[in-house]
Amino acid sequence: MVIVGASAAGLTAAETLRRRGWNGELTLIGEESRPPYDRPPLSKQILTGAWEPERAALRTLRDLDRLKADLRLGHRAVALDVPGRRVHLEGGENIGFDGLVIATGVAPRRLPDSDLAGVHVLRTLDDAIALRAALLAGPRVVVVGAGFLGTEVAAAARVMGLEVTVAEPEPVPVRRPFGDRVGELVADLHRDHGTRVRCGVGVRRLHGAGGRVTGVELGDGTTLPADVVVQALGSTPATGWLSGSGLRLRDGVDCDALCEAAPGIYAAGDVASWFNPHFGTRMRLEHRMNATEQAMAAVGNLLGDATPFAPVPYFWTDQYDTRIQAYGISPPDAEMRIVYGDPSDGHFAAAYGHHGRVVGVLGWNAPRQVRTLRHLVVDSAPWAAFAATPALDPATVN
Ligand SMILES: Cc1cc2nc3c(=O)[nH]c(=O)nc-3n(C[C@H](O)[C@H](O)[C@H](O)COP(=O)(O)OP(=O)(O)OC[C@H]3O[C@@H](n4cnc5c(N)ncnc54)[C@H](O)[C@@H]3O)c2cc1C
Repeated sequence: MVIVGASAAGLTAAETLRRRGWNGELTLIGEESRPPYDRPPLSKQILTGAWEPERAALRTLRDLDRLKADLRLGHRAVALDVPGRRVHLEGGENIGFDGLVIATGVAPRRLPDSDLAGVHVLRTLDDAIALRAALLAGPRVVVVGAGFLGTEVAAAARVMGLEVTVAEPEPVPVRRPFGDRVGELVADLHRDHGTRVRCGVGVRRLHGAGGRVTGVELGDGTTLPADVVVQALGSTPATGWLSGSGLRLRDGVDCDALCEAAPGIYAAGDVASWFNPHFGTRMRLEHRMNATEQAMAAVGNLLGDATPFAPVPYFWTDQYDTRIQAYGISPPDAEMRIVYGDPSDGHFAAAYGHHGRVVGVLGWNAPRQVRTLRHLVVDSAPWAAFAATPALDPATVN
C-alpha cells in the first residue's frame, strides 16, 4: 500500500490500514521533511505564540515507528502511472503499489509580485514560524482575503497588538461558507477589536521598494501601507503531479461515493472531490475533521467495505474570544434563521434551509446548542416545519 501526502489524511490512512489488520508493506510519502503536524493551530496558537511549534506535532516519533511504515519524508511524488501501478518520485525512484491513497492536500494561491520580502502565505509550520517572526517586529499588517484563514490571521495579529487591515472583494468576510448575515457579524467582531475591514474592493497590486513590500493598492485606487502582507486567497488542490495520469482532475481528484478515483486508487482530505450521497452533491472540503473521517472511509473501501462516504461535514474557526462551529453545508441560496439566542449577545445558533430541508446549522459561541441541532442536518429535517416553529427556547437546548 502506498500513501502520497503525509499529513492529517495521509497519516490517518496509514494508521487505519494498520488498525484494520493490513500487515503488508506500507509506504507513506510526504514532500515536507517535518514529521506530520496539525495545521489548525498554525493560524491560532502558533501565530500568537501560545504554543511552541513542536506542540503542533500529530504524533510522537515513537508512534510513527510503531506504524512499521516506510516513511519517506522530504520526498515529492512527481507522476503516477495508473496502468503500471507505480508512483514516481523526484530524483528518479519509483514505488509500486497494489493500493494507493492520494492525500496531497492543497497549495495556497498567490498574488502577482508575491516574491517581495514581507509577503507571506500560511500553509505550513515553516510558514507560521516565518510569519510569527515577522509579526514580532511590530509591522503594519494587511491581510488579503477574509475567508477563514484571513480572518483568523487578522485576529491573531490584532491580539498581538498590531495595526491590521483585512481587504476582501466580497461585500462581507466569510460570505461563501456562511452567507451575508453571519459575514456581517464577523466584520463587526473584527471592527470591535480594532481591526480595519475593507470589503467590496479587490486588490489591484502590491507596491514595493528595494525588494520589500510597502503597500497594497486596492481596486478603488487607495493604497494601504504595509510592512507585512498575508495572502489568504484560498487554495488550489495539489494535483499537478497527477497530470497525465488519466485520473479525472477537475476541482481536485474526482472520486465516486466510495472515494475511489480508479480501481484500487482512492483520495482523501482537502484534495478529494467526491459525491456525498447525504446531500446528493459532489463536494471537496478543506476541513480538518473531514481529512480524518475521509481517510478512514477511503481505506475501509480500499479494504473492501464498499460503504459510501456520506458525512455531515464539521468545521470550526476561532477568532478573538469567539468560536464559530458549523455542521453541514450552507449553499449561497440557502435561507438562514436564528434558532437560539441573539447575535447581539455574542451567543446564538442558526439553521440553513435549502430545497425544503435543513442542510446546515451554525453555532456562535454555542457549542452545546449546535451539537444538539446537528441531528436536524443528519435527519434532513423538513425546513418548512422547522422554519415555522418559534425560535428554540434556550432551556430546551442543552
Ligand atoms: C493555517 C490553517 C488553519 C486551519 N484551521 C482550520 C480550522 O480551524 N478548522 C478546520 O476544520 N480546518 C482548518 N484548516 C484546514 C485543515 O488543516 C485541513 O483541512 C487539513 O490539514 C487537510 O489535511 P490533508 O492531509 O488533506 O492535507 P494537508 O494537510 O494539506 O497535507 C497534504 C500533504 O501532502 C504533501 N504533498 C503535497 N503534494 C505532494 C507530492 N506531490 N508528493 C508528496 N507529498 C505531497 C504536502 O506537503 C502536505 O504535507 C486549517 C488549515 C490551515 C492551513
